[in-house]
This record gives sequence, C-alpha cells and structure tokens, in this order.
Amino acid sequence: MKKAKQLLSGLSAARENPVFFESREAFLKGLLETASKLVAAERVSFYYYDEKNALLRLMMRRSGGASFEAEENVRQPQDSPAASALATLKPLTFRNKAGHFLLVPFRIKIYSASANREAPIQGLIKLERSLKKRRFSPAEAALAHEHLGDFMRSYYKAEFAGLNRKYAKNLAAITELTGIFANSLRVRESFKHILTGIQTYFGFDRVRLYLIDEKARKLKGEFSSDIRGQIKSIAYEEIPLESGAHRFADIVLGKNSNTFMERYKDCVLYMPLIVQGVTIGLLIVDNLLSQQKIEPGELAMLKSFAGQIGLALDNVRLFDKVEELSLYDELTKLPLRRYFNQRFQEEFYRAERFKTPLAVIWADIDYFKEVNDTYGHQIGDRVLKEVGRVILSNLRKIDFPCRYGGDEIIILLPQASGEEARKLSRRLAEEISEIKIPVPFSKARELAVSMSVGISTFPADASSMESLLEKADDALYWVKSHGRGRIALAGEAEAAKAAEKSRGEGLGDRG
Ligand code: GH3
Ligand code: MG
Repeated sequence: MKKAKQLLSGLSAARENPVFFESREAFLKGLLETASKLVAAERVSFYYYDEKNALLRLMMRRSGGASFEAEENVRQPQDSPAASALATLKPLTFRNKAGHFLLVPFRIKIYSASANREAPIQGLIKLERSLKKRRFSPAEAALAHEHLGDFMRSYYKAEFAGLNRKYAKNLAAITELTGIFANSLRVRESFKHILTGIQTYFGFDRVRLYLIDEKARKLKGEFSSDIRGQIKSIAYEEIPLESGAHRFADIVLGKNSNTFMERYKDCVLYMPLIVQGVTIGLLIVDNLLSQQKIEPGELAMLKSFAGQIGLALDNVRLFDKVEELSLYDELTKLPLRRYFNQRFQEEFYRAERFKTPLAVIWADIDYFKEVNDTYGHQIGDRVLKEVGRVILSNLRKIDFPCRYGGDEIIILLPQASGEEARKLSRRLAEEISEIKIPVPFSKARELAVSMSVGISTFPADASSMESLLEKADDALYWVKSHGRGRIALAGEAEAAKAAEKSRGEGLGDRG
C-alpha cells in the first residue's frame, strides 16, 4: 500500500501542476504505467472513442512491463460493457473467459481556440488481470477512475494551454508580418524583415529566400537568416532554372511534385512563392541543425504566409519597376540620371546652337560612407534628403539638377558662367554645411556634412558633352585629393595640377 500512496501523491502533484510531456506518446506511456501500478493490472489498453462511428480506437497498450503503440478498431455493440461505461461515464468491472476487467471511461471537454469550439475528448482505459488473480474491487475501480481521470484532465489542459499559447503566438506573428508586408516598399530591407520575422516566430534553424530572375532564367539567392536571427546575403547562389539542374529548380519548375505536403521532409520545407499562378521564388525553412520536426500545425500556417510573402514580393518588384520607369529619385526628389542624359543633350544643343554658355556643377558629399558607417543608412538617407531640399530651393527655373548616383549630384546651369556657377555652389555648400541632423547617441549630438565641387563650362573648358562632364569630374577629383570641402573651376584645377607637376619635376631634376 506504500507504493500506492507514493503514486497517489505523485498524481495529486500532477493535478495541481499541469504535466508537460514531450509528446502525446510519452504521455500515454506514463498514463499506462501509472494505471498498471495503481491497481496491479497485467495489461492496460488506452482507447479513444470515435462517437460518430461508434468505434473504440486502440492507441497504446502496456503488457509485460512494456508499452507499445497499437492500432485496432473495435466496434462497440450497444449492450457491451464498454458502451455502457462510456454512456454512464462510470467505471465498470466484469469477467469473461479471458480474465478480469476494469473499464475506466473518460470524457474531457476542451475549448480549442484554433477550432473555436468545445471539442470533447473521450475514450476508455481497459485494465486486465488474468483469471488466476483476484477480481477488481469496487474500491480499486473508484481509485482508478478518480486518479486516472485527473491525470488525463491535467494533461489535456496542459496540452491545450500549450496549443493555445502557440495559437496566440501565431496570431502575433500574423499581425507583425502583415505589417511588414503592408509596408514592404523598401525592397531589400523588407526581405530581411520577412525572413527574421519567420525565423524568430517559428523558431526555425534557418530560413532562406530565393527569387526567380526571369531574364537570366535563374533562381537567385537573396538572404538567409540563421539560428541566431543573423541575416546573410546568399547572392552568390545562382541556380540555373533547368529541369534536372538542381532540386530547387525542379521544385520551382513543378517537376518534383505538385502538392505542398510532398515537399515536406520532416526537417525541411520548400515553399514555392506563387502569385497569380506564376512562381516568383522559393522560401525554404529548415531545422536541419537541431533535427526538430516541423510540426504539421506549422505547415498550414506557413502555407498561408507563403501566399502573403509572394504578394509582398510581387509588390516590391512592382515598386522596383515603377521606380525604374520614374524620372525622379524618391529620396532627394531630384531628377535621376536617365532624365538628366536626355536634358543634357537638349541643353548642350541649345548652348551650341545659340552660342550661350552652359556650366556644369559636379558635387559630391565628403566622407559620406563614414556617415553611413557611423550613424547608419537611415541617417545617411536623411542627409541626402536634406541636400536635395537645399538644392531644389536654390536653383533658378532653368537650372537642372540630377542625382547622378550615390552621393553625387550634377547641376546644369544654362546661360551661366564659371563664376556664376561658383557663386551658386558657395551658397549650396554653405547651406549644406548648416544642415544639422540630430544623432543623440554620439558625442557630437549633431551631424554636419560638407561637400566638394568641381565646375566646368562650355565653351571655355570643353567643346563636347563628354569632355564637359569629364572636366567637371577632374576638377572635383582634384578637390577630393586636396583636402575636400572646396570648390574648383576646371581651369583652376588644371593650372594647380600643372604647377604641382612642374614643381614635382623640378624636384626630380634637382634630385
Ligand atoms: P569622398 O569624400 O571621397 O566622397 O568619400 P565618401 O565616403 O563620400 O565616398 P563615396 O562618395 O565613394 O561614397 C558614396 C557612399 O554613398 C557609398 C554608399 O554607401 C553611399 N550611398 C549611396 N547611395 C546611398 C543612399 O541612397 N543612401 C545612403 N544612406 N547612402 C548611400
Ligand atoms: Mg562622397
């Protein structure tokens, strides 16, 4: 009886603290072991009851000190002991040729958040002793009923609490990821957010994203997020989109299989990203490192995400295309190089034709890379935005600015001389030096930038479009290599260079 007492105290502890088992299988094993010890049963079987089909489904059996999963469906006649135990929900003992039996029925009502309804779980535990042994007493029946019932309830409560927690977690994931999708216009950044979002919410070892490059007929790596949530570019991964070239290619081309589930290999899940019937990429999640199975419950969730991710990526691509077609830069609001090239031809033609001057200002922010490196890209973007604002608010109507690329800006000044261009450049440089961007965590507190400028004019410095640009660029290069933050006309830079050269040569002569 001492043993039984120990067991009972264990059971009541379980009642107060919901028990977590690694798996349902572990739970069933524990339950059967407890049951057999509690009432000294030689054989214990656990059945779920399928009410609709009046079937008892055997899940696990314990016999000879070992438990094993078993499958056996037993139809229950209306007048069978099992049917009556299930109907009354009371324990029942009986004997037949095979032995002594104790049936302990259970029925647990559980609210399932995912199904949004009450879902009863019912079944029975069948305990057996051979005929050589004594029969099950009413006290034993009552004991088993009470304690096994509690054990079951506490387990299911714990399991469902776990499931509901997971469900709540998934809801949070949906809300957050949907937010990312809705705002996913800043292309590559948003890919990163999507990947880390999936990685952290689902806790996969790794998430990888590949996109199809239609023109090149390739599947190209974008990003990979590892177990620590660190993002890495996998742009070096390029897979030819040919059947048989690579497993990924086959999946994307639909050569492998058409159903989602077949692409599921326990620890790895391949999700083609499909928008309006067109495959645009491949998302791969895996637990290869930890060898944890991806749970079926997560599959459905990920599948619905795959659709959303596909849409978001499609938006992002569309945005890329629109930007490609657009003439203006989103950040600085300045015209882009495409537009500039066209306008430059027109202005140059006019200048030649009407014999009017045309000045070119080529400006470049000093140490801009350092701004990005020190304060981050976002602060860098704010600098560019402010620079764009300063330029647009200082030009004449006929002037034409352009974000030539990165932190380089070119301004065309029709009918302006080199000196006029210098005057404007000074004003711009001064206003740009007054741009103050708060950077709260740094010593400086405010960030200040300067710019270097090279100027060339037609017809004084050059007679073709190409050489006009080249002269401005040369002048800028001269400033950059002489301390930055200044303005040089092409003529001045050339003269200075020539002087340096002759001095250098002079020294060489003397040496
Ligand atoms: P230098 O004084 O010689 O010009 O040095 P620098 O650091 O400015 O060097 P450079 O002009 O070669 O570097 C331009 C940098 O501008 C490199 C790139 O990271 C950054 N950049 C280009 N486009 C953008 C952008 O749209 N936003 C931000 N934040 N940075 C950009
Ligand atoms: Mg620069």
